[in-house]
Amino acid sequence: MSQHHANPASPAHPAATTHALPSYLQADHLGPWGIYLQQVDRVTPYLGHLARWAETLKRPKRALIVDVPIQLDNGTVAHFEGYRVQHNTSRGPGKGGVRFHQDVTLSEVMALSAWMSIKNAAVNVPYGGAKGGIRVDPKTLSRGELERLTRRYTSEIGIIIGPTKDIPAPDVNTNEQVMAWMMDTYSMNEGATATGVVTGKPIDLGGSLGRREATGRGVYTVGVEAAQHIGLDVSKARVAVQGFGNVGGIAGKLFAQAGARVVAVQDHGGTIYKESGLDVPALLAHVAAHGTVAGFTPAETLANDAFWDVDCDILIPAALEQQITKANAGRIKAKLVIEGANGPTTPEADDILQERNVLVLPDVIANAGGVTVSYFEWVQDFSSFFWSEDEINARLVRIMKEAFAGVWNVAQDHKVSLRTATFIVACKRILHARELRGLYP
Ligand code: NAD
Repeated sequence: MSQHHANPASPAHPAATTHALPSYLQADHLGPWGIYLQQVDRVTPYLGHLARWAETLKRPKRALIVDVPIQLDNGTVAHFEGYRVQHNTSRGPGKGGVRFHQDVTLSEVMALSAWMSIKNAAVNVPYGGAKGGIRVDPKTLSRGELERLTRRYTSEIGIIIGPTKDIPAPDVNTNEQVMAWMMDTYSMNEGATATGVVTGKPIDLGGSLGRREATGRGVYTVGVEAAQHIGLDVSKARVAVQGFGNVGGIAGKLFAQAGARVVAVQDHGGTIYKESGLDVPALLAHVAAHGTVAGFTPAETLANDAFWDVDCDILIPAALEQQITKANAGRIKAKLVIEGANGPTTPEADDILQERNVLVLPDVIANAGGVTVSYFEWVQDFSSFFWSEDEINARLVRIMKEAFAGVWNVAQDHKVSLRTATFIVACKRILHARELRGLYP
């Protein structure tokens, strides 16, 4: 896609050397992709001579739209739209999750794939960035329909994924079982079992110990580091969590284990609150049984919008993007926001939080624990040699702490937010690889 527009933009040779971005790539309607483009613009002045390659970051390398027809249980045929986007592969194969959600769009998947490029570079795992999704509400499908949907989608994107090309993983509404079906479908088409084609698989199919908890554990690990830097005692902190699935549920559990009070939780079903702290293990069991935090006792029910007014020290958005906006950023009481979700804060909200001295630990580092253990899973699959959970958690914590320390120092040196600092570190790594590789042909 970028070859035709390959002349690098640089301060000396600005956009005159490139054609205008096509409308769906432009930032005028600030969806997730527009937000990402703004983030790149903010960081470009800090990239030194590598800024001449920054245009690369604004164009996904490859985007595939697929039709996914399946037979429903009632005998009719339904069509769903699926996507796989490989944003950048300068540093290694594409890597990123697959989302099943009724609001998935190409531009959302593009943004999520770009954030994967940034995230993988920020924690320095040897991957580019990719993402996939299907525009579907999986809650309306039976298990058989979901399996057929997953298998057909995998077959359709099979022409661009693979253990050395692009490695999907779970995201919103996809899980170990979906990864098992993806691995099986790809393997059947290849004629050989290819465990390394996806990560986040069940342990018995080459999955890694610790993967399920890894994103939440990473959120917790860097959250504690950040809290220390601003003199916040985690063991006394009040925590509010939006989204109590894989990421929010595990992060909430680990904060509670560290002594923090999880006072409010919101998910798609509603918002619950308890001043003295919710019983997190019991809440996790309630969610496992009922699919939502709604109806949990003992707890008060809050109006969803009141979630943003909750008196808390740490706020963990761990649901979907664009949740913290200019409408609610001024109301947030937390001193620390740890972005478990991808893209939960709009740029305007980011500015408001910064002005109010709220520290935002951005998604591109805060939720990188998942892809870090996905990387461990992939390495273990290639070597067919599996590590202990303690070993995995210790390596995860080391990588997350090192990445955080590097980003913190860059933020101090340049007097910029942690988001801009993470983008500086990551974009330099990606663009240095781009420069070393040069342009093909
Ligand atoms: P999940 O499906 O396990 O959980 C999603 C949670 O969000 C659920 O509790 C759901 O009820 C809640 N939710 C959905 N819509 C909501 C709404 N409108 N308001 C409030 N809550 C809502 O998904 P997950 O894997 O925990 O992912 C959550 C976020 O973390 C996503 O942004 C995802 O991209 C990101 N993320 C996930 C991983 C991972 O390893 N799972 C890694 C990195 C980032």
